[in-house]
Amino acid sequence: MSENLHERALQLVAKARVEGLADSEREWLTVHLQDCDFCNEHAQQIDCALRSLRTAAIPVPADLASRTQFRVRLRAMELREREPKRRMLWLACAASWIFGIASAPYVWRIFEWFGHVTGAPKLLLEIGFGLWWTIPALFAVIVLLLESARQTEEPEWMKPSR
Ligand SMILES: [Zn+2]
Repeated sequence: MSENLHERALQLVAKARVEGLADSEREWLTVHLQDCDFCNEHAQQIDCALRSLRTAAIPVPADLASRTQFRVRLRAMELREREPKRRMLWLACAASWIFGIASAPYVWRIFEWFGHVTGAPKLLLEIGFGLWWTIPALFAVIVLLLESARQTEEPEWMKPSR
């Protein structure tokens, strides 16, 4: 076989991977590769190299995707973990307010009794009684403030790197 035929075959092998071949070119190449071990081996080496390139390229985006997924899952877990706590907080507040309303007459009686025993002025008792009512609200405000402060300082590694 002449040198030109092998050269043409190798050119067609490369062309097939880049832009594709015309039917006549593909037929000619198939026949040549069946007859010529040298070109056949060359074509297989190219295929092999391309395949390993392709498989080597896969782990990078796959790893990136899994890392992103991990980050999203972690964030979701964090939010899920935080949510019941907040619901518990509101439940505790509501319960304490309901309990406060239900127990108000008794609490006031305790304050009155305290006034009788200590001789404290009625105004002081009334202020004490009022403060008693604001305790759950103050507690809720403090917890919410702490929560929002913690939310703003997100750890550095959670932010998308660029
Ligand atoms: Zn050949």
